[in-house]
Amino acid sequence: MSKRDYYEVLGVQKNASSDDLKKAYRKLAMKYHPDRNSEDPSAPEKFKEASEAYEILSDTSKRNAYDQFGHQGVDASGFSGSSGAGFNDIFGDIFGDIFGGGDPFGRRQRSNKGSDLQYSMTISLEDAVRGVTEKIAIPALEACSPCGGTGAKKGSSPITCGTCGGAGQVRTQQGFFSVAQTCRQCSGSGQVIKDPCTSCKGQGRVEKRKTLSVKIPAGVDTGDRIRLSGEGEAGFSGGPSGDLFVQIKVLPHDVFERDGRHLYCEAPISFIDASLGGEIQIPTLDGKVKIKIPEGTQTGKLFRLRGKGISPIRGGSTGDLLCRAVIETPQNLTKEQKKILKDFQNSIENNANHNPLKDEWFDKVKSFFDSK
Ligand SMILES: [Zn+2]
Ligand SMILES: [Zn+2]
Repeated sequence: MSKRDYYEVLGVQKNASSDDLKKAYRKLAMKYHPDRNSEDPSAPEKFKEASEAYEILSDTSKRNAYDQFGHQGVDASGFSGSSGAGFNDIFGDIFGDIFGGGDPFGRRQRSNKGSDLQYSMTISLEDAVRGVTEKIAIPALEACSPCGGTGAKKGSSPITCGTCGGAGQVRTQQGFFSVAQTCRQCSGSGQVIKDPCTSCKGQGRVEKRKTLSVKIPAGVDTGDRIRLSGEGEAGFSGGPSGDLFVQIKVLPHDVFERDGRHLYCEAPISFIDASLGGEIQIPTLDGKVKIKIPEGTQTGKLFRLRGKGISPIRGGSTGDLLCRAVIETPQNLTKEQKKILKDFQNSIENNANHNPLKDEWFDKVKSFFDSK
């Protein structure tokens, strides 16, 4: 299947800013997240597609590679996004393969544990900070109830494999050596099912969608993993279930940027307020807060609100909210307003210390050229 263009997937222009990308992705993620779309069968695919597009385009170097070379320019195998619908077979039959064939004592060791599952959960920054309980629907293999997980039809039971006599291994003589191999008849289980259960066709497990309530603790961040013990796939022939790992991804926020336990935001300040000083409102996750700004505030000044950041999940002190002042230049001035500003400019023209940044900058430029 050929891939759609990433910009087309997110519905943005080729020159979209990182903010545009964030907004577009946020909208799609909310729309197609499997959590919220258990009815729409195409939602997981669309969600995955949008996540992949965002992951590539939000990374400057990957975006450059994509712009230049297209899909071939970005290594799709490195993409870690998961629709939450896929099974992640971590244990599988690896142990059976390693120990089954070459063990010199012919012991049969085989993991009956079910596979671990991974579920990718996308949450808002607010939910990440405060904690949230989310219901998720996951496809999972469960022990078949009519046969109790044995795979044999009700009333019958699996019988000892005739080929290996229940050992799960067959020994063959090769010269001086006796080599043990996994029995093909019973795949190493030592038992065969003569009369398979009709519900699970002898597999002992059936695929079901189950709904789980997952408690996300306050303070989680992208990359954190929550382990739900025993909520993975059912084991084979009565073995223990695997675990379910919920992988957290926190969506970008419109107002706040997060860096660990600190939050960052920007506050536009009129040049009048910045010049004269005054009070401005700053948004925090718990509502607006008024702060005083001093006379002569410049763009870039950081106002720190202690304890208004995030309480880290692994303990430690709560972070701060850092708000960056951005001084706004007034637009659409009337003739009269322009005249006032001109008069104002004339009043300060020949006095020192009104524009320390500008004076310093001119000094630096002057010495730069003088040194040539
Ligand atoms: Zn056998
Ligand atoms: Zn069954």
